[in-house]
Amino acid sequence: MSQYDYDLFVIGAGSGGVRASRLTALGGKRVAIAEEHRVGGTCVIRGCVPKKFMVMASDFTHQFEIARGYGWDVQATFDWKTFLEAKDVEIARLSGLYAANLGKAGVELFHGRAVLKDAHTVEIVGKKTVTAERILIATGGRPWVPEDLPGIEHAITSEEAFHLPELPKRILIAGGGYIAVEFAGIFAGLGVETTLIYRGPNILRGFDDDVRAHLAGEIEKRGIKVILGCQHESLEKTATGILNKLENGHQIETDVVMFATGRVPHVKGLGLETAGVRLDDNGAVCVDEFSRTSVDNIWAIGDVTDRMNLTPVAIREAVAFHETVYRDTPQHFDYEAVATAVFSQPPVGVVGLTEAEARHSCAKGVDVYLTRFRPMKYAFTGSDERMLMKLVVDADTQRVVGVHIVGPEAPEMIQLAAIAVKAGLTKAQFDATCAVHPTAAEELVTLKEKQSPQNMAAG
Ligand code: NDP
Repeated sequence: MSQYDYDLFVIGAGSGGVRASRLTALGGKRVAIAEEHRVGGTCVIRGCVPKKFMVMASDFTHQFEIARGYGWDVQATFDWKTFLEAKDVEIARLSGLYAANLGKAGVELFHGRAVLKDAHTVEIVGKKTVTAERILIATGGRPWVPEDLPGIEHAITSEEAFHLPELPKRILIAGGGYIAVEFAGIFAGLGVETTLIYRGPNILRGFDDDVRAHLAGEIEKRGIKVILGCQHESLEKTATGILNKLENGHQIETDVVMFATGRVPHVKGLGLETAGVRLDDNGAVCVDEFSRTSVDNIWAIGDVTDRMNLTPVAIREAVAFHETVYRDTPQHFDYEAVATAVFSQPPVGVVGLTEAEARHSCAKGVDVYLTRFRPMKYAFTGSDERMLMKLVVDADTQRVVGVHIVGPEAPEMIQLAAIAVKAGLTKAQFDATCAVHPTAAEELVTLKEKQSPQNMAAG
């Protein structure tokens, strides 16, 4: 009989923590998990899932416009409260399902805040103190805002955006990353006058430059006002809203201001220092490739380690942890060619290297294939929206090392393209695949013309 109450104690019942605890309990171990909010974590409760519902709610406006071109007479109104209720019912159902699945696997669930007392002892505040042979930190991240900005207390983050009592008439969103771009699309789609302000030269830093330029242009076509190379000086509450004072001297009054300026690891008050767990300069838990922290029996997965902050990655890290620790088959997740989607409107799907990254890492250069075209569905709308598809190919090996798509269904397409990129397929193998016609995706297997330096400059 073990000297500990549990074989594994998991802190945080988000995507990573739930997967690790269920697998381990199903393997016959005594497992407990603590969650201070609702079971499901960021993804289910205040991230991916509700965000996608909001994207879908807001996309109807665009679909109605397209429908008019096809002869439909669409008279539609939107009720924010009805939507919020439906969304919250579904989120509660999913959270309940997660909790039920933990129970079915035999995981003991503690609703409460867990604090480490030492490397083997966890206090569930106000409830009890338990011991465990191993501890897994899976507490995720939380929004970060520049706290020294005058008036920042008037701004919300994505967390509150899911529960606004009323849909504002005007919103300003600060930031140029995933969350800023996604919420700008949501609010604009729902008819809110939307301004996006970003300090850098173009949105989505880190993405392929063609994707960034294309998306910035497309979201402006959807009515979002994009202000680049600028940030706030202050925010002031007025009788009619919030006054955004910008560095460039401009002032914009909106009803709501949302900061989407990044997320930080959720480590505050966890007692990690007491247990001797090392953090990096950004507060992320330092781990080795197998997700082990600086303390032998304490492990960490997901956003709290700030490696690749995506739900499916946290789940894979959980599986690798379980295999390594409990099945004697050491595994670590392979972070290469992980596809990702930005649910902007239009959405983005990318996998592999950007052109700039490929030029840096492919010794003999790269071949670039790029096309921009009007999606067939828009033929009757008079819309000048364009789709972008780009393949980045290692000139030497002819392997497709990057696929970049902006346009309808890009997230669905990139999931499949990612199989080919992950498998290391070549451009010739893409081309040997017969097209599905008429689709947008067929462009991926029919791109013939390499970009020459001249037409690259022309864009
Ligand atoms: P990101 O790190 O993607 O973007 C943060 C943005 O805020 C950047 O544009 C950054 O600018 C800007 N910023 C940072 N500090 C300041 C400041 N002081 N003043 C003004 N602007 C600032 O964070 P997000 O919050 O958008 O998302 C967090 C993470 O969550 C993402 O990285 C992603 O991993 C994950 N996520 C994934 C989604 C998906 O898969 N679809 C959806 C949502 C989130 P700069 O670029 O100049 O640093």
